[in-house]
Amino acid sequence: MFILLMGPPGAGKGTQAAQLVENFKIPHISTGDMFRAAVKEGTELGKQAKACMDAGHLVPDSVTIGIVKERLAKDDCQKGFILDGFPRTIAQAEALDRTLAELDIKLDRVVNITAPGSELVGRMTGRRICKGCGATYHVVFNAPKQNDICDKCGGELYQRDDDQEKTVINRLSVYQVQTQPLIEYYQDKGLYTEINGLQPIKTVLKDIVDSLRGGQV
Ligand SMILES: [Zn+2]
Repeated sequence: MFILLMGPPGAGKGTQAAQLVENFKIPHISTGDMFRAAVKEGTELGKQAKACMDAGHLVPDSVTIGIVKERLAKDDCQKGFILDGFPRTIAQAEALDRTLAELDIKLDRVVNITAPGSELVGRMTGRRICKGCGATYHVVFNAPKQNDICDKCGGELYQRDDDQEKTVINRLSVYQVQTQPLIEYYQDKGLYTEINGLQPIKTVLKDIVDSLRGGQV
């Protein structure tokens, strides 16, 4: 199964990626991991990427695409993969199409796990972290026994700056603006499926697997 996985922060994409790895025995390839591996292995492209990042510049598309191509050409990807975090632009999507054609790989499906913005904001702003031990809680889904106090160590819980409502709303709107053209791009190719991320984890997984087997959910 060759899967491209998309989803806004807070919709449960990471959880589902792990389930799909388990289900299909294929690797989960996230952009971050791919970059770290290329830098660590010291490949020519890895060196170029590191030089850009060290200088605080954006890694150019040519380098990013090269790293993706090297990764997808590896043996463990020949039966499938879950590509996550790439492409982010139409130019990257077109480059990915060319790369996959060269590797003789056809994407099975582009799966977008999503939820209404208001729900995502609720999920993300509800997160609390313990100052003492770093345990994470959620005011709705995983609340501590006592308000703002860690069950494990009695430490004080706080909300990360990244989880403040204003920041979350901004992140989501940036994500949506960036993603909309990609959604249309893959809809035009008949590859796109939207999955309701608000359902229980098992139901979300079932919907994804159904969409891989038979097209639309
Ligand atoms: Zn604690």
